[in-house]
Amino acid sequence: MIAELIAVGTELLLGNIANTDAQILSQGLSALGITVHHHTVVGDNPQRLREALETAAKRSDIILTTGGLGPTYDDLTKQTICETFGRDLELHEDILEEIRTWFQTKMGKPMPANNVQQAMLPVGCTVFDNPVGTAPGCAFLERGVHVLMLPGPPFECRYMFENRAVPYLKALTKGAIVSHEIKIFGMGESAVEEALHEPMTTLANPTLAPYAKLNECMVRATARADTAEEAEAMLRPLVDRVLKTLGDVVYGVDVGSLEEVVSRLLLERSLTLSAAESCTGGLIAKRLTDLPGASRVFRGGVVSYTNSVKAGVLGVPEALLEEYGAVSEPVARAMAEGCRKICGSDLAVSVTGVAGPDRDDRGSEVGTIYIALAAPEGTICKKLSCGRGRGRDRVRSAAAQNAFDMLRRSLLGLPL
Ligand code: ATP
Ligand code: MG
Repeated sequence: MIAELIAVGTELLLGNIANTDAQILSQGLSALGITVHHHTVVGDNPQRLREALETAAKRSDIILTTGGLGPTYDDLTKQTICETFGRDLELHEDILEEIRTWFQTKMGKPMPANNVQQAMLPVGCTVFDNPVGTAPGCAFLERGVHVLMLPGPPFECRYMFENRAVPYLKALTKGAIVSHEIKIFGMGESAVEEALHEPMTTLANPTLAPYAKLNECMVRATARADTAEEAEAMLRPLVDRVLKTLGDVVYGVDVGSLEEVVSRLLLERSLTLSAAESCTGGLIAKRLTDLPGASRVFRGGVVSYTNSVKAGVLGVPEALLEEYGAVSEPVARAMAEGCRKICGSDLAVSVTGVAGPDRDDRGSEVGTIYIALAAPEGTICKKLSCGRGRGRDRVRSAAAQNAFDMLRRSLLGLPL
């Protein structure tokens, strides 16, 4: 099945906001095995929306629209779609009641009169009720094309896609589509592609496709079969083959992120962690504390950006800072050891490096990073050159990512 997206909103055309809904939907559709051929953006203009719909109906099996489902004069999506596809709108009393209740309970005020419009939906449509906002979505089949309407606000769009559109779309695609994501750190996308070139280019079902992400990459294996069990059986040998080919650069299958893997490993081993961060400025702590339940494994950290904090708070000897400079192995080691002591954690990781844009006062290149890991059995340290020439953000996120990988490897007893 071929799908296409039409985003409705003048704000998108003006560049006031980015079309992040398209990203959410495209990722979701590709995970369902539905191919997306076009993204279109039109303003809040019925004539141009109509043209976009006519074009889409000729070339796609599924059209998903976002935005324009609200109660205001510029929210024209439903009306225009109904006119284009020759459907009438009718009032859904139950939806109207839900919107009324939503205003009463969530907003603490009566529903404004113009919200009645949101309960007007195409005759005979599948209603996508919206518990996270007021605008319901809906879907219908007309002229052989499935038209799905989702609200614009990204949080609502994601919720409605995952909980309303996905079940609708799954019912359209016969059989089951199952996929597994193999997450990789420490091997670039092109090297991964080279290693897996043969299955990636020759397999039709299951398929194997590479995806580049920030500082890491991913390979997705997808199979289509009559049942989920059959699809799983087709995937197992392929996933095994990928794991064997790539080895320990794979940090997980169907896992969220490297820090999630590290947190789980710490939890399994009943170990706690702390972080002393210089150039990452708290990024490691941020990424760990983004995870719910982080307090079970992460005790805290110190953003020791200046030498006086490295010395005064973490207890890094002044002599080391003077002799070797802040970006050095002895300082990285002392930061991790000091942090472990003051935070009372089993392990402590430290990062010191040059984020740029200029070299440091001792002439170290931008991207030079030292990562140390202090543990009861001793301290290890690694020097890296990462993210150079790609800006401070990239150096910092690459440094944090490397720190998490060092933790993962050390917790699993893999070579560093
Ligand atoms: P509402 O009930 O809030 O009016 P709606 O379905 O009518 O919802 P719009 O009015 O088109 O949606 O957009 C509401 C807000 O949602 C926009 O101001 C914008 O912040 C966000 N938004 C809309 N479309 C997109 C999109 N494609 N990508 C990201 N954000 C979007
Ligand atoms: Mg609106």
